[in-house]
Amino acid sequence: MIIHVNELEKAPGRMLALQSAVTTDQLRQPGISFENFQFAGQARKEGEIVFVEGTLTGELKSKCAKCIAPTFYAFTHSFDEGFTEGEIDEEESDLNPYQAGKIDLEPFFHQDILLHMPQVFICEDDCKGLCPSCGVNRNEQPCECVNERIDPRLADLAMFFNQDKESK
Ligand SMILES: [Zn+2]
Ligand SMILES: [Zn+2]
Repeated sequence: MIIHVNELEKAPGRMLALQSAVTTDQLRQPGISFENFQFAGQARKEGEIVFVEGTLTGELKSKCAKCIAPTFYAFTHSFDEGFTEGEIDEEESDLNPYQAGKIDLEPFFHQDILLHMPQVFICEDDCKGLCPSCGVNRNEQPCECVNERIDPRLADLAMFFNQDKESK
């Protein structure tokens, strides 16, 4: 989505409603698909500053990190950025620069999506995951395996003794 600032200046109240699909081809994240990303909001110009506010929505599809079931996440996030033409000291200002009367919002949308999407996909808060012994999905069926939690320090020790056995 590109805002042409001269159109914005001519619009009533120097305000434009914005509604558009967001391209997500560039958002390559292993095992995650991005679908139906949209931005709905408005741009307005106050003095020399263009404010863009609205909501980013979309669907993320991946696999549960615990049980590998297909997992869906409804993404929604408020978007709020200010822009001003030409050079600015980015350390001193929260505003973003734009050039040649055009503001390309796509990189800002992408940044927001990557920053606010889940780091880990889990199908349900109480997902029981796959059994580490027999591999059964414990959400679907229980298994008889006894999976003892081994203290990691003891696990090192157990490994040490096993290696010792193998070398003899
Ligand atoms: Zn799961
Ligand atoms: Zn099991």
